Amino acid sequence: MSGPPEILKRIPKVEKVIGWALKDEDLQDQSHARLLKAARLVLSELRAEILERRLLAVPADQIVLEMVKKKTQDLNQARFKPLINATGVVLHTNLGRAPLAWEALERVRLTAQSYSNLEYDHLTGRRADRLKPVEELLVELTGSESALAVNNNAAALFLLMASLAKDRKVIVSRGELVEIGGSFRLSDIIEAAGVTLVEVGSTNQTRIDDYRRAATLDHVALILKVHASNFRQIGYASQVEIEELSALARAVNLPLVVDLGSGSLVDLEPLGINETTVKKALSAGADVVSFSGDKLLGGPQAGIIAGKRPIISQLKSHPLTRVARLDKMSLAALEATLLLAQDQDEGKKKIPVWRALHLTIEELKTAAIRLKRFLGPFPGLKLSVVPVDGQAGGGAAPESPLPSFAVAIESLVNNVSLLEEKLRRQKTPVVARISHDQLLLDVRTISPDEYGPLKTSLTAAWGEVVGSPVKVSPFMGL
Ligand SMILES: *Cc1c(COP(=O)(O)O)cnc(C)c1O
Repeated sequence: MSGPPEILKRIPKVEKVIGWALKDEDLQDQSHARLLKAARLVLSELRAEILERRLLAVPADQIVLEMVKKKTQDLNQARFKPLINATGVVLHTNLGRAPLAWEALERVRLTAQSYSNLEYDHLTGRRADRLKPVEELLVELTGSESALAVNNNAAALFLLMASLAKDRKVIVSRGELVEIGGSFRLSDIIEAAGVTLVEVGSTNQTRIDDYRRAATLDHVALILKVHASNFRQIGYASQVEIEELSALARAVNLPLVVDLGSGSLVDLEPLGINETTVKKALSAGADVVSFSGDKLLGGPQAGIIAGKRPIISQLKSHPLTRVARLDKMSLAALEATLLLAQDQDEGKKKIPVWRALHLTIEELKTAAIRLKRFLGPFPGLKLSVVPVDGQAGGGAAPESPLPSFAVAIESLVNNVSLLEEKLRRQKTPVVARISHDQLLLDVRTISPDEYGPLKTSLTAAWGEVVGSPVKVSPFMGL
């Protein structure tokens, strides 16, 4: 038997493999550069497998060529792609937060595929401000004096701090200095803007007197209140609400800045989601608020700032506003989303996040029954419809579960964790969670358009679990 060094010598030379590829019909439309890249990758993988003795002979020429074909396809595949969110978490930061409304996507396509009036007033022939259209909508929707949109809410916060408080102090409650996932700490952002934090209160208790004492310090620029995002304190804990804080801020002549995190334009209290609206935060006395575009608003990534005109004007003239500028595609999507939000009933139908949050429990149950019927019987799996708790996500109301329904899948042959993994690895990946040995497909975040691809992925994934292709009955109608 020959060892790896002997076998390695039998690996075909890259020129030879390219020669085969160039003659192959399936590869006619591939560039030479891509074939070369694919061939090199395949040959180096073969070499590694032989050295590690996972491969004991060089595959036949035809098989090497097939590997090159497969590799060429892989190299052509975009790796950033859609997937099915079966978790029931409406705003899932790892899964791209808010899916956009059709109207928003259409505006992006129309304005981005050609030239546009992004910064040009075609009526006067003069230069125009790219943000004006969304600013006017934001003023209308939030009831603020003025507004501004930047790249994301973290940038909005950074801009607020750098512009209003650089080299000075900002008063903030210790209980509100949270980390927002992905190792993003608010305090780091604030301090990076050249601001000194004055933390008041204790971890669980902050009272108005704590703020009042801090406000007597020298060089205080503003009072900051931050939405605690995914973090909630229960039991003996309290923070000072906007109204009380704003009375103090006015008395000591300091601006009150509120980072709302999610910032909803609709009142979500009727859904049991304990989140204030942007309008309420402003009328409660915040001088300026900031929030994300792709959380409860349901639009593209953006950081929106709304509030008093003199503050917004000061922000607009800061160089960071240019640094954190919103791009034309986000701007188009944001304007279209805000146009839909003007009519709340229309928004609840057409903005996917609003629609998902407003689905009634009856609608969700009906959807789960339909999905179960659509998926049909699977040999070896038991499907049922069960009540579950989902979440709004995006840092909004973590303590308020969103009751929903799911199709629960139990495996009759092994535990479902292998199926969960295989589902994630399909061409259309499906992300689902497991609870009590059941794989749960929460219908709140699955649109009926996705039922077909979901069934395809489930069929393939289950086939891989049991080691043979699964035959499922064709679907006969809902
Ligand atoms: C999500 C969040 C942010 C960050 O917003 P991005 O738009 O992701 O930059 C900042 N502050 C709070 C309180 C948040 O919840």
